[in-house]
Amino acid sequence: MSWIAPELRPLSAVVAATLACDGTLIEANAGFLRIARLPAQQLIGAPAARAFVQPSFAALLRLAPAADDEIHRGLLTMGDPMAATRTLHGRVWRRGGQLQVLAEYDIDELERLNAKMIELNRDYADAQFELAQSNIKLQQREAEIVALTLTDSLTGLGNHRRFEQELSTEIKRFARTAEPLSALMVDLDHFKAINDSYGHDAGDKVLAAFAALLRAQIRATEIAARIGGEEFVVLMPHTGLQQAMLTAERIRTALAAVPIPPASQPVTASFGVATLATAESRDAFMRRVDCALYAAKHSGRNCVVAG
Ligand code: GH3
Ligand code: MG
Ligand code: MG
Repeated sequence: MSWIAPELRPLSAVVAATLACDGTLIEANAGFLRIARLPAQQLIGAPAARAFVQPSFAALLRLAPAADDEIHRGLLTMGDPMAATRTLHGRVWRRGGQLQVLAEYDIDELERLNAKMIELNRDYADAQFELAQSNIKLQQREAEIVALTLTDSLTGLGNHRRFEQELSTEIKRFARTAEPLSALMVDLDHFKAINDSYGHDAGDKVLAAFAALLRAQIRATEIAARIGGEEFVVLMPHTGLQQAMLTAERIRTALAAVPIPPASQPVTASFGVATLATAESRDAFMRRVDCALYAAKHSGRNCVVAG
């Protein structure tokens, strides 16, 4: 005759079972099977004494062996001592040579566990957040360092390396899209004389001022770089020769219009311009731009020549 009410049978937070004195199971609800890690099929006759950890099954048997009544009331540690155990609150009776147990999970302990879990979760979320923040900062720092290795420190323009990267990208794009690509090379005229007259620092200021002028005169899609002492290039994607010549002429005019202090005379520059031809190599293209600049120098400086 079962003492476990049908309502108790499916409950998992309540443990109810009857065991024979040899520790085998006579009946049990879902809560007991769960804590003893027994499958439902092994119900009758399954060895289940080991589910009693503290007090042990043997210790319970030793308690008032002659009595036929309640033999324990209070904490019961149950489960698998090799794996997980739980502390429950309950009672054990000895009846007709059998032990009956009825216990429930210790609500206080569950609440403590729950509170600890919430705290751990919060710490974990905080740590995750901090990690994400550090990652973002690290990525920003890395991007800054990469940008620095591609920047000319005196003028803030791209350096030779940046120019080569951009040129290679744009030549590939040209091969894909056949959109025109032009480049201009500019070299300040008689720059040595500026250094000689006003000093090296003044020369640096002129270079920085020219870079600012260059930046102001070109479009956002165009890339300006300083590739030598007083030698600069502007790469102009989506730009044909005529448009590139106009850009060079605009820069030349703006530069020649006003002196850059401390120079008393306007600084001038010579320009070589070329547009990439179909199937032309990077070297051949840049050679043409360079030759055009050379020609500009030889035809009296302060002018633009197409290559
Ligand atoms: P040209 O019209 O033929 O180009 O004459 P130039 O005097 O400009 O050319 P040259 O090649 O004879 O001299 C370039 C000078 O640029 C010499 C060098 O000292 C100076 N220079 C190179 N880099 C820097 C720099 O970073 N700062 C300063 N102030 N001067 C530099
Ligand atoms: Mg020069
Ligand atoms: Mg030069």
